[in-house]
Amino acid sequence: MKRAEKHARAALFWSRVHRAGAQACWLWLGSRLPTGYGKMSFRGKAYYAHRLAWEFSRGSAPGRLCVCHTCDNPQCVNPAHLFLGSPRDNLHDAKQKGRIQSGRDHWSHRMPSRVSRGSGKLMSATLAEAEVLSIRTLYAAGKTTHAKLAAMFSVTDRTIGKIVRGERWKHVGGLRTKHAALGRPPKVPKTWTSS
Ligand SMILES: [Zn+2]
Repeated sequence: MKRAEKHARAALFWSRVHRAGAQACWLWLGSRLPTGYGKMSFRGKAYYAHRLAWEFSRGSAPGRLCVCHTCDNPQCVNPAHLFLGSPRDNLHDAKQKGRIQSGRDHWSHRMPSRVSRGSGKLMSATLAEAEVLSIRTLYAAGKTTHAKLAAMFSVTDRTIGKIVRGERWKHVGGLRTKHAALGRPPKVPKTWTSS
């Protein structure tokens, strides 16, 4: 492929991505597969959006390797949330989808000190700012619920509600959402000012 065409493809690709912040999930705004993964077609051939994100940000295609998500959000194309794995890693990753993450790749295994041992729930006070941003981005994109997000981030439904309404963690910013925009891409974000 010629360099000019590659640049044109990359520009078109990034124009369909909502870049919420360096550490937040970047949501693919184009069409998606039933599994939640984004897809984009060039000259009649469809590609996974997250694989294109890897290629356009790193400059080389992942080849036969799998592009996996650290955030387990199939719609996300933030290159910072993507890593290369063998097909075996990907199978392991896929097995975890659809239930609360518990595998070795889950953040609680990487940062065990952040888990409250008493209840098994993460104490909401220890949520990282990046996680708060991700919660707001995911909720604003719709197709999720307080309960699902609560399970995903190991906090209570109540905490998720407070985060998406801005009653907590206001200083972090992100998308302010009272109601999820079901099935529609997020609008231009309203950001909070620091308090
Ligand atoms: Zn992500």
